[in-house]
Amino acid sequence: MEQTPHIAILPSPGLGHLIPLAEFAKQLVHRHSFSATFIIPTAAPPSSAQTAALESLPKSINYLFLPPITFHDHFEGPEAVTQIALTVIRSLPSFSEVLESLIATTKLVALVVDYLSTEAIHVAKQFCISSYLFSPSPAMALSWCFFFPKLHDQLVSDNYRDLPELVQIPGCVPVHGRDLVVDLVRDRDTVAYKWILHHCRQFSLADGIILNSFMDLEPGPIKALQGDEPGIPPVYPIGPIVRAGSSNPLERSECLQWLDIQPRGSVLFVSFGSGGTLSNDQLNELALGLEVSGHRFLWVVKGPNDSANATYFSVQSQDDPFGFLPNGFMERTKERALLVPSWAPQVEILSHGSTGGFVTHCGWNSVLESVVNGIPLIAWPLFAEQKMNAVMLSEGLKVALRPNMNQNGILGRDEIAEAVKALMEGDEGKMLRNHMLELKEAALKVLSNDGSSTKLLSELAHKWKSVGSILDDQQC
Ligand code: UDP
Repeated sequence: MEQTPHIAILPSPGLGHLIPLAEFAKQLVHRHSFSATFIIPTAAPPSSAQTAALESLPKSINYLFLPPITFHDHFEGPEAVTQIALTVIRSLPSFSEVLESLIATTKLVALVVDYLSTEAIHVAKQFCISSYLFSPSPAMALSWCFFFPKLHDQLVSDNYRDLPELVQIPGCVPVHGRDLVVDLVRDRDTVAYKWILHHCRQFSLADGIILNSFMDLEPGPIKALQGDEPGIPPVYPIGPIVRAGSSNPLERSECLQWLDIQPRGSVLFVSFGSGGTLSNDQLNELALGLEVSGHRFLWVVKGPNDSANATYFSVQSQDDPFGFLPNGFMERTKERALLVPSWAPQVEILSHGSTGGFVTHCGWNSVLESVVNGIPLIAWPLFAEQKMNAVMLSEGLKVALRPNMNQNGILGRDEIAEAVKALMEGDEGKMLRNHMLELKEAALKVLSNDGSSTKLLSELAHKWKSVGSILDDQQC
């Protein structure tokens, strides 16, 4: 009997990478009869959100955790990027064993890795397995990744944040140096900088790049990536790949029940993704800004932290987050606000008719989930490529407001209240909403049966099925 084609997927740690890869695998299983195995490198026990995402996978998608690695021997840098890169690199021996056993037991046709797992491509090459990079970030970030090594080689400046001119990433809206990937530009001597540069240089080793975006959303960078620039593998924009919300009426959470009784389009959703956290002062200003705005809001509150991605690996905040809110705030806003600690069913909230706007950290999954629901944004980027995303959303696509921080890096209560009012009641908000609705229509179209994303996914599936598991001698 013919075996089902099988893919191995190596996600780097972090929920924002796992979620779109899981959805991608589900599409291959449901539409193209593939099976898949997630091979997950770890440094700590999985978060409950990660476990829930894995346990909800269909039967034909397996998952296994590689033996946890430890950091205490040569711990080389505190940044998430460094921790992720080291976790993957130190897991390569066990990854190699798992890959070998998959080759023996399944019809393995490809390995899919994400941005920070490019080392695994070398392992796949040893076994003559083709490797694809999955980009959980926008085409703009991908275009930047190919541009960055050139920028690095050209510029002797230590700090891109201080560049006098705007940076022109191929096909993209120009960005200030300060809005380039944040951890990275701080200092070219940091370990994180070196890791990112290293991975970007390795992107060209992939046989193809699967991109969670689509042409109407990012025509400039997608065309640039699909142009004739040497060293860029074929790019497949098959997005937007987003999770479907639960349709089980018995699973309606408190958030959804609360939304059910709010007027249509009246609620501002406030959430900074799985990892985003605010400082104590910033949390205070946000609370007071939401209060002053007078609007309804649903806020996923996390305890304060001076590091902007403090819950990246854990998702939950350590302390009771409500204990950090201003005195009397909960009482004063209780008629028009719902506060949720740490985690809320975001996809269901964004698709609820009562939700009319979203204050977001501009994580790419959150952006795509807003696009497919036509929800306009207040862009509040925190880390990774989110500042570039914010530039694209506010200056390029014009679907977001981006209020200005003061010189201490704090967004004050008045600016917040003003932005909320502009989004929820002003003409500018209407214009942003209309642009988002146009993107929603475009997203529906590319995902329809004869839409470009559906066709490209079929093309990829067909290619993998026809290549079989082992590349011929010339390619290998
Ligand atoms: N998410 C959620 N509930 C939360 C926070 C996040 O369901 O309270 C989901 C969100 O819908 C998205 C993902 O977690 O699918 C976050 O990914 P994103 O790329 O937006 O940001 P990251 O967490 O990677 O910073």
